[in-house]
Amino acid sequence: MTEIRKYLENHKDEMIELLSELVAIRSVQGAESEEFPFGEKPAEALNCMLRRCAGYGFSVENVENYVGTADYGSEPLLGILTHLDVVPEGTGWSGDPYALRRTETRLFGRGTIDDKGPSVASVFALRAVRELKTPLRRGVRLIFGTNEENGSADLAYYRNKRQLPPLVFTPDGEYPLINGEKGMLRVYFSAELDEDICINAGKVINAVPEECVVSYRKKGELVVYNGKSAHASTPEKGDNAITAFLADYSGDSRLLKSFQQYFQHGDTSGSAIFGENSQDFTCVLSLLKTVENSLTGGIDIRFPMNRTKAEVSGIICDVLKKIGFTIDKCEGSEPHYTDENSDFVKSLLRVYERVTGDKGYCITIGGGTYVHEIEGGVAFGAQFPDEDGNMHGADEYITIENLLKNAEIMAEAIIEICG
Ligand SMILES: [Zn+2]
Repeated sequence: MTEIRKYLENHKDEMIELLSELVAIRSVQGAESEEFPFGEKPAEALNCMLRRCAGYGFSVENVENYVGTADYGSEPLLGILTHLDVVPEGTGWSGDPYALRRTETRLFGRGTIDDKGPSVASVFALRAVRELKTPLRRGVRLIFGTNEENGSADLAYYRNKRQLPPLVFTPDGEYPLINGEKGMLRVYFSAELDEDICINAGKVINAVPEECVVSYRKKGELVVYNGKSAHASTPEKGDNAITAFLADYSGDSRLLKSFQQYFQHGDTSGSAIFGENSQDFTCVLSLLKTVENSLTGGIDIRFPMNRTKAEVSGIICDVLKKIGFTIDKCEGSEPHYTDENSDFVKSLLRVYERVTGDKGYCITIGGGTYVHEIEGGVAFGAQFPDEDGNMHGADEYITIENLLKNAEIMAEAIIEICG
């Protein structure tokens, strides 16, 4: 057993205690005020963490309750980025989501895997390095955000005020390492309705709609189409209720008939829109509603590294305009890519292989991570392959072993990069 691992084993209960303290703070986004940009609770979690970090001997800074940092050493070369805000608990929990529940192998509670557990792991990784007096050439900065779950306005603010270290990874994704994130586009559109029909489908633009309710006012007929919800970055895991309706549609609306052509049921890559090379795209018609005399809708698109936002929005907007829609809003982000042959990526994968004994490799995902806007940034952890900690769901958990293993990997990464 390495010295690092031994240190972490000896501090296991202390780690769990800090995690328990953080989980008890329901740091869901709340009402904005001048002092609390994301509500009081995310700031409370941040200040709790910073107090602890100061106690461990790190120099801390709270940047106006947006982001807090804890430094060890000067001129930080490496930044480890985590967040202390959480999504609401939802329903279906076996116990209180804000009272950490410990079984022999697992820790249950909102935020345990996303991202309070990894955040605690980063603190104990740096403590281990410091207290074992491992010599470092360059400093390390732990960065704690408070708005990852609602648009990452925390990081945008922080980057305006301070400079990030040159190398940043976030344990807010998965292992081995995410170096590629597809680009994203969200298009909202509307047109004057050309049939006496009432449609209501989809709640949010980034999810496959699970229900589409259609009523034909004249006939007095109501039909409910059922599908299966999934994140818009992985639509193949769901079943789109809107396209199920379109496949079944035999009315008079020219708008809906055109849609039939472009959004075929079961096609999740938008092949009728983006052509033959669409296999790396995802395209989800996620919102469709009639509001008085207009038909409004939304589409979520994820596109590969070799395309740009301007190019993709040009294609989809042309199609929508041709059908007869007005584009109300079109927003998104470019793809994110960090060179897999960079020293940074190679160092992290080397550490992963050494600690886990498993093969390290890079992956690309359809979703965006916390480092999407950070040049050269990667997501490294915290979920191991084939592991599911019920992130954002009921009974979210991290195993005690993986809490320790995350801390061990981060400590070794600090030494590898800054030692
Ligand atoms: Zn997260």
